[in-house]
Amino acid sequence: MPKYSIAIIGAGPSGYFAAMALQNLESDELQFKIDLLEKLPTPWGLVRSGVAPDHPKIKSVSKVFEKVATSGNVSLYGNVEVGRDISLQTLKDRYDAVILASGTSEGRKLGIPGESLDNSLSSAQFVPWYNGHPDFADLKPDFSGDTAIVIGAGNVAMDVARLLAVDPSELEPTDTANHALDSFKDSKIRKVYICARRSPEFAAFTAPELRELPDLHHTNVVINKTDIQAAIDRVGPEPEKHVKSNLDAMLAIAEQPKRNHDRTMEFLFEHVPLAINGSTKVESVTFKTPAGERVIDCSLVVSAIGYQIDTQADIPIESGKVANNNGYVTENLYVVGWAKRGPSGVIGTNKSDAADVMKLLVSKLEQSPKPEFDINQILHAKVVTQPIWEKINNAEVSAGEPLGKPRLKAVSREELLGLGGV
Ligand code: NAP
Repeated sequence: MPKYSIAIIGAGPSGYFAAMALQNLESDELQFKIDLLEKLPTPWGLVRSGVAPDHPKIKSVSKVFEKVATSGNVSLYGNVEVGRDISLQTLKDRYDAVILASGTSEGRKLGIPGESLDNSLSSAQFVPWYNGHPDFADLKPDFSGDTAIVIGAGNVAMDVARLLAVDPSELEPTDTANHALDSFKDSKIRKVYICARRSPEFAAFTAPELRELPDLHHTNVVINKTDIQAAIDRVGPEPEKHVKSNLDAMLAIAEQPKRNHDRTMEFLFEHVPLAINGSTKVESVTFKTPAGERVIDCSLVVSAIGYQIDTQADIPIESGKVANNNGYVTENLYVVGWAKRGPSGVIGTNKSDAADVMKLLVSKLEQSPKPEFDINQILHAKVVTQPIWEKINNAEVSAGEPLGKPRLKAVSREELLGLGGV
């Protein structure tokens, strides 16, 4: 029975869903040996280092990932970086097919003056920082001022603004990284503006995320009712369903009775960022608004305006993602997830997307598989296999239990490897 070897680069949602799709395509005539390579000592990608810590339900998809990982034909190779520990060319030579599932890790740039001032950050840094990604633990955002500006009107901008605006006690029962929780506790920020460049009907937020904002216990959430009413008038009686849901949710927020917490998250629409001002550090942002230019003083800026792929050797890149044709890149190389489509959709979007790409991959397999390749022969000794990851996972969950947290995250690579006994 032909057994094809497949390497998947990246153990995030799109990598697991690609493995799952291959498992579903197996038959008596077609078998796979799947090697899942991940540069971090921990798998799960954005489910660990992207999803907001106060959204634990979204993270429950990790149970699906673990089922895929323990279903027999998948081997995890964590702490293995393609390009450092093994080349993409070797993978392409030795495996029947290679799947890029490495996401889009760079934040898009605003391209305005002052973007590189101190304390002007991208969500691509800030989000992994509060989620305990080892590469961002040293970010040290400065929360000593009272006002922060988040630029963007998508769910990531909302996550960032919410994390900055909530009382840290609301993060206590979450898996927010300890270094971030400590910083949030010391934070002097009391006003967070979330700035959309267009009007409310064009916002990329989704309604469930907006609807949960009135539940924040210690934060005033402010939306100008006139802005929403004007948007409702503009879209007319039959707006698209998601636009209507969003505007309804925003109107409900705008109509909430005024509260008097000392923390506020305020939405500003039609604020196009023109410049971030300051001598060495962020001091204010200049916006173009329908009423003319407006300068808002602040000491922290986080732009959350989307992501793009980091430039990797030997991979054709187009518009911030891997150049591909329905997931096919070149030779025996495929791409799935945000690296394929760009940064859009929810985690579940990757399931059907990966299934389509895997069907294409199967249709292009050679008649006979390549000779089986044992990647262990060329890897270093500190590989995080599935049993080692399970040790790390169990140790984090156990450490979180007495604190009422789903897990207490280890952050540095050394600490993570230590928990796994590597
Ligand atoms: P996004 O949804 O594409 O939103 C990006 C935002 O940035 C848009 O409002 C866009 O405005 C704005 N923007 C782009 N360039 C800009 C510029 N130069 N100046 C000012 N604003 C600019 O991206 P995202 O928030 O990174 O989210 C990525 C995906 O992950 C989305 O599909 C999102 O729904 C999903 N996600 C889901 C959840 C959840 O389910 N809870 C959480 C986080 C992320 P324009 O529309 O004007 O371009």
